[in-house]
Amino acid sequence: MRFIETRGNDGEKASKVTFSEAILSPSASFGGLYVPEGLPSLNLSFLQKHITSHYKDLVIDFIRHFEIEIEEGIIREAVDRYDCFDDPDNPVPLSQIEEDCFVSELYHGPTRAFKDMALLPFGYILSKLAQQRGEQYLIMAATSGDTGPATLETFKDQPNVKVVCLYPSGGTSDVQRLQMVTEDSGNLKVIGVKGNFDDTQNSLKALLASAEFKDELASRQIKLSAANSVNFGRILFQIIYHIHSYLELIRQGKIVPGDEIYLVVPSGNFGNALGAYYAKKSGLPIRKILIASNSNNILTDLITKGVYDMTARELILTESPAMDILKSSNVERTLFDKFGASRTKELMESLENKGKYHLTSDELRRLREDFDATFSDDILCEKEIAKYAKKGYIMDPHTSTCMRAYHDLRVDKLPTVIYSTAEWTKFSPTVAKALGYNASGDLDALGWVSSHANRGVSDSIKALFDKEIRHTAIVEKNSIKDEMLTFL
Ligand SMILES: *Cc1c(COP(=O)(O)O)cnc(C)c1O
Repeated sequence: MRFIETRGNDGEKASKVTFSEAILSPSASFGGLYVPEGLPSLNLSFLQKHITSHYKDLVIDFIRHFEIEIEEGIIREAVDRYDCFDDPDNPVPLSQIEEDCFVSELYHGPTRAFKDMALLPFGYILSKLAQQRGEQYLIMAATSGDTGPATLETFKDQPNVKVVCLYPSGGTSDVQRLQMVTEDSGNLKVIGVKGNFDDTQNSLKALLASAEFKDELASRQIKLSAANSVNFGRILFQIIYHIHSYLELIRQGKIVPGDEIYLVVPSGNFGNALGAYYAKKSGLPIRKILIASNSNNILTDLITKGVYDMTARELILTESPAMDILKSSNVERTLFDKFGASRTKELMESLENKGKYHLTSDELRRLREDFDATFSDDILCEKEIAKYAKKGYIMDPHTSTCMRAYHDLRVDKLPTVIYSTAEWTKFSPTVAKALGYNASGDLDALGWVSSHANRGVSDSIKALFDKEIRHTAIVEKNSIKDEMLTFL
């Protein structure tokens, strides 16, 4: 399988690259992204074959069908990293919360958010490739709070890779910030940026595109890569858990192979949703992918009206901060898949130059063949958290954005999988508030919710509050480069 470019080729870069090339240097011509030339086809016999498979074996076989050039032994070692999840035999449990509604819990890894699902194996593969090539890489991650900890976790002490992680100062929870600033490995650097997540991500994109910055790195023999979901190496691993959810429903006797289901994806940068889309295109029987947003509901407008307009919006800080995003990077890959490179280039240039684009009514119709969308504000999310807590299920505020999509968007009452992208412990003050208690901080909230709802808090979260703070830098956007070069 080769990888092609979403905005066409500029005549300088190769027009097709290998998987290794796409993940080591993820920026394609004209600022576009790499996408696979095709997708494997998952027929019913693939599903039948994996009904009793371990999650890791499903991953390995799926990737075999993807035909990338990475040795299978490396893939195997990469997925062995799932052994550190709560239950190594079942790293992604599926819990039932309604007759026809199931929660796929993607957060049972070390940083308690779903970013571990993709970043853990991806980080291992990237470091291996760097070692095989004898090259040194700098990974720059912009995080709204969950990518950062997971990126640091996956690369800590890994050879041939250094990580600089940028987070919006004040834009993360205490737990998220502590997960980053207490990391003490010599190849990791964490910098707080004064601004919101879009500012942070834009600074990162500008640096990644800057020739001057690349020259400075080249003089130090360092190459640049990225670990956010612009990197296809992450998307690959995000296709697989959608297949796993489907298989879990079969195992639990809720569907038979071939039955259609709905998926509800709480979305920000659209990586998770794109994984679902690729799974659907590969043949997984998904009726529709329902996109859940918070009050930053730009994706709702895109999918219901065909309008992507950032000019009329300011980023709103919500209680589901990992979804506080206006420029949602992976929408581009979906546009490419539906409308081709030249139209994608036109739309993305319009977004960059005018801050907006409009789909034609035919394009909107095609998008809606696979997607529908809605959003929930904080008040609604808190209500849903309280409602399910009464029934004995504690969900985090990102997961709770899914409930309105589940209630309002389904045309037929098909079994529905909603994705839980974070454990409640990462956003405990909001969960406490939803249950009627105003906590003074994460520690207070963790204690209150855990005794009120009789839930344990994992040791890794508890330990954060006693760890030494190693990274104290908080800088203006224009000082990021200097701060990084000092570290390097
Ligand atoms: C990253 C994240 C999301 C958004 O996922 P995308 O793939 O960027 O759409 C949602 N919830 C949580 C908790 C996250 O960490």
